[in-house]
Amino acid sequence: MTEEKIRLQKYLAMANIASRRTAEEYITQGRVKVNGNVCDVLGTKVGMTDKVEFDGKLVKIEEKKVYIAMNKPSGYVTTASDERGRDTVIDLVKNDIPERVFPVGRLDYNTEGLLILTNDGDFTYKVTHPKHKVAKVYLAEVIGIPDRKALSDLTNGVIIDGKMTSRAKVDTVAINKNSCSLEITIFEGRNRQVRKMCEAVGHRVVHLKRIAIGNVRLGHLPLGKWRHLTDREIKDLLGEK
Ligand code: URA
Repeated sequence: MTEEKIRLQKYLAMANIASRRTAEEYITQGRVKVNGNVCDVLGTKVGMTDKVEFDGKLVKIEEKKVYIAMNKPSGYVTTASDERGRDTVIDLVKNDIPERVFPVGRLDYNTEGLLILTNDGDFTYKVTHPKHKVAKVYLAEVIGIPDRKALSDLTNGVIIDGKMTSRAKVDTVAINKNSCSLEITIFEGRNRQVRKMCEAVGHRVVHLKRIAIGNVRLGHLPLGKWRHLTDREIKDLLGEK
């Protein structure tokens, strides 16, 4: 992503140092440094990665915090860039959102559904930390029809990667000829967890979609589209009143 650069006087004004006019005076007076060097040239452009100082003190612009919910299509990686050149979820938002957002947790390349993205690192930490036990709800289409034992094993815990999964909620929502749709709610976020859980009870996942994270629901958001989270959704995910 190319970084947007702005004029130094605008940067100082956006950081509430002074009006643009007064900021220009500060610049020509030699009171402003960029990356350690005095910059007294009006119109010099700076970006968020430049170090700007005024009278020896670091000047920072607080970036607006954004929180979005996306319906991730299959065939996109949940990273900002991919060494194999595959499409990324950031490609789906970068033309609309100037802030640098990052995914909150991950969905596999072939998984679709609800993905939250934000530029708020504290939010990401809280929502993904296992101690907060945020519910993640998936619709998994599996090969075959799991029997009662398979369903109770999924609920009570199965061993994946040498460690037992914690309690899940599992409901059968549709039974087809050779497959079955399960709604699985987990409170952890281990690597490929739902696929591995179903595999552990002998049922391969052929389609996987996340439909909710905490109180945030995918709803009718079209594939590849996004929306802003509401203040209520953000507060609920943070466990705030
Ligand atoms: N579990 C999986 O197996 N894959 C995902 O993408 C998310 C949860």
